[in-house]
Amino acid sequence: MNPSPSSTQLPIPPNPVLVIHYHEIALKGGNQAYFENILKRNIQQRLADLSQARVRHMRNRLVVRGLPPEAVTRVIPRLQQVFGIANISIGTEVDASMEAMKSAAQALVQGLSFASFAVRPKRAEKKYPFTSQDIGREVGAAVWEVSHARVDLTHPELEVFVEVVQGKAYIFAAKLPGPGGLPVGSSGRGVVLFSVGFDAPVAAWRMMKRGLSLHLVHFHGQPQTDDASVRKARALARVLAQWHGRIRLTLVAFAQAQEIISVACPERLRTILYRRMMMRVANKLAWRYHARALVTGESLGQVASQTLPNLAAIEDAAAFPVLRPLIAFDKQEILAEAQRIGTHDISILPHDEACTLFQPRRIETAAKLEDVRAAEEALDIPWMLEQLMAQAETEIILPDWDTRNS
Ligand code: ATP
Ligand code: MG
Repeated sequence: MNPSPSSTQLPIPPNPVLVIHYHEIALKGGNQAYFENILKRNIQQRLADLSQARVRHMRNRLVVRGLPPEAVTRVIPRLQQVFGIANISIGTEVDASMEAMKSAAQALVQGLSFASFAVRPKRAEKKYPFTSQDIGREVGAAVWEVSHARVDLTHPELEVFVEVVQGKAYIFAAKLPGPGGLPVGSSGRGVVLFSVGFDAPVAAWRMMKRGLSLHLVHFHGQPQTDDASVRKARALARVLAQWHGRIRLTLVAFAQAQEIISVACPERLRTILYRRMMMRVANKLAWRYHARALVTGESLGQVASQTLPNLAAIEDAAAFPVLRPLIAFDKQEILAEAQRIGTHDISILPHDEACTLFQPRRIETAAKLEDVRAAEEALDIPWMLEQLMAQAETEIILPDWDTRNS
């Protein structure tokens, strides 16, 4: 096993550079520049408080220069939340002469204790005068001189990476993992139907990882309920914002719509009719904020409203593709993911859901579309939508690292 020191144990050189690798977007052929530019912009946002930092694109990697050494441990965790990044290395940049690479490698391993090592050379341009073998041999000899550790190419305790790109060489000792996926914003935007249990926040995170930028909408029961669900929605949005960057959250007072539906429509269809109304509000927001998809936390069979006929009856009210990243997840898998991404401990807090207020005693598990549509004949849907939109309030939730004025 190769050690992968956490960022705090890593030696930070006096003029650190970060070398950021991405894999999936490197495969995108003609679209590569599009993805790289969005990734670069997303990285720059996280460095906005460091006026000297510069991000430069160098053949299938991004290089960050101008970071004060003491800022590195603060910035690394932020970058580990940037989708699209495969790994991040902290190293030094030197001119790609053999002498410079050797002394940089020696400086890098000073103070590290390791019994075995391997040099991992990589050249971006084949016209470079030295072969990878040359680099491996010479830099390896230099590392041996100062460490007397043995060379072990299969199971080294320490790996010394040397990457030669455009006349420069980057020397570093570890790759810290990024989250992978695609840069947020590269796949367009989606409106997330953002309830505050475990599912919807995890679904939002999953779609973000596929490059979707998000607009969150939460339906609450105030003033009939307290503000617990709204406070949870804000706290969950803040967790997502660490990964997403500033994010919009629309809060919609839903109790009146529920009351109207519960009075005018068959009890067994209530839940489905509530969801259809939520879909319609989400449609409106999608048009307004240039989103082209709706996202839910639905999981097949998890609850009675999530049977195939009911999903179809709900989707019928959607004007955009409904993305359900958790459709095939078990609850246990969702809980584990909520733990990993940091939403679990907020989702677990109690709240009165908008929907429990006028909750039916029994819910239809095989709703027929014609029955659902017939039930809606009793409603003035355009008027209801107008009321809902008139009471909608949109706020911007900032991540901790965003110090710009909103
Ligand atoms: P979750 O765990 O995501 O809070 P849930 O398991 O309670 O939801 P349902 O209540 O059946 O599931 O809701 C299914 C989906 O409908 C949710 O994942 C969410 O996308 C959407 N939804 C439900 N209630 C609301 C709400 N009050 N505001 C916004 N979206 C909602
Ligand atoms: Mg659920």
